[in-house]
Amino acid sequence: MTIPRVRFAPSPTGYLHVGGARTALFNYLFARHSGGAFLLRIEDTDRERSSSEMTGQILDAIAWLGLEVDEPPVHQADGLERHQADVASLLRAGRAYRCFAAQEELEVLRAKSRRDVTPFRYRSSDAYDEAEAERRAAAGEPHAVFFEVPAGDITFDDAVHGPTTVPGDSLDDFVILRSDRTPVYNMAVVSDDVHMAITHVIRGDDHLSNTPKQILIYEALAADLPVFAHVPMILGPDGKRLSKRHGAASVEAYRDEGILPEAMVNFLALLGWSPGHDRELMRLPELIEAFTLDRILKKAGVFDSKKLEWLNGKYLDAAATERLVPLVLDSLDGEGRSIAAADPDRFAAVVNLQKTRARTVPEVGRASLRYLVDPLSYDEASVEKHWLKEPQAAREILSAERDALAAAEPFDAEALEGPLRAIADDRGLGFGKVIGPLRVALLGVQDSPGIFDVMTLLGRDRCIERIDRALSEIERIGAS
Ligand code: GLU
Repeated sequence: MTIPRVRFAPSPTGYLHVGGARTALFNYLFARHSGGAFLLRIEDTDRERSSSEMTGQILDAIAWLGLEVDEPPVHQADGLERHQADVASLLRAGRAYRCFAAQEELEVLRAKSRRDVTPFRYRSSDAYDEAEAERRAAAGEPHAVFFEVPAGDITFDDAVHGPTTVPGDSLDDFVILRSDRTPVYNMAVVSDDVHMAITHVIRGDDHLSNTPKQILIYEALAADLPVFAHVPMILGPDGKRLSKRHGAASVEAYRDEGILPEAMVNFLALLGWSPGHDRELMRLPELIEAFTLDRILKKAGVFDSKKLEWLNGKYLDAAATERLVPLVLDSLDGEGRSIAAADPDRFAAVVNLQKTRARTVPEVGRASLRYLVDPLSYDEASVEKHWLKEPQAAREILSAERDALAAAEPFDAEALEGPLRAIADDRGLGFGKVIGPLRVALLGVQDSPGIFDVMTLLGRDRCIERIDRALSEIERIGAS
């Protein structure tokens, strides 16, 4: 069996979009699953719109996702001479022909074939004179080269969409080499895929309409056809094709928003592919193990950013704290960073605690700073719910808690638990009712990790200072 070789072929005209990243990932997963090679081709023939900076960003994004490329990237623009040579061989084989007609003349002929409902075939029209074309070519006159579409159906078995037939009569003869001697996209792609010995072309189904033309070129070059697998588009929540309008759409933007690569990979894999079970958390090795083309879904996947964040939360929880600390530091502004850096051990301990309940890296950062920065800012909804509904009761509970914290010896979970539970029991309240006001006093928010962990990390003095401030805040707000 031939060893599969696949490629991801981005055009470096913008950042790596999540749709492109998913195509790259599917290629990678297929290559690794089948023991094949994952290659990269930078389709940089559009000199005006391509840039080496964008190529660099795309390579970075692929590396960040953890997709290792097996050979140095191929640059399509480097293949120009081969593209031209392949066109020359199609001319020699009689599968292509030279055209010296002016644009306007071709437009008239095209319009006529549309009226007659016949495909545009320049070579068999009265306007074409082979001997004349040869003579002008020999004299070095610039001209375009057309591919002559043969009669008959074009059939292929798409690994996602199944058997597909396109009647040859539905295709016009098409340009493969422009008069400036640059190849058109379909020509360059086939020439490169043959040259790179690509066995499976896995790409977005926006390329489905190019495939019949590419197949004709393969056949005319007497090259083996690859397997085609056209992956459905990604849609935004409004059912339209995902784009910048839907918010962040590049992989870099998600990285900068604090998404971990393993979460992005897991999320993208499940967007348009199904492992055949309903387990949602899958890391690269498991994805590789499970990935087959026949499980790619035909239906477009809808990008659900809530799900991405949910997955990210799971991976944040699982990530080693030493790995997260620098990422969290990076997500803070200058002031936050110096506060965190001033007490690195405590910051790491706080990150270790907060990573279990955040969905993004900056969320861990914001939550962690609450332990280190005074005066604490209070979340309005939390204050409203836990302090201001019954300000008198909240103050009374907090005062009792202050006494309990001051007396606990040593200051740890074991010593604190009994007295705090007693405060609830004495008042006939659930434990949650007496912990709510305390959470807001200690961290300014109603959601926090286990209260004993929070107290131990803050330390007795800071806890008492914060309770004191809470008591005067409640009095102040309650009175106004
Ligand atoms: N460069 C094309 C694109 O970015 C991909 C071509 C292909 O995969 O065949 O859409």
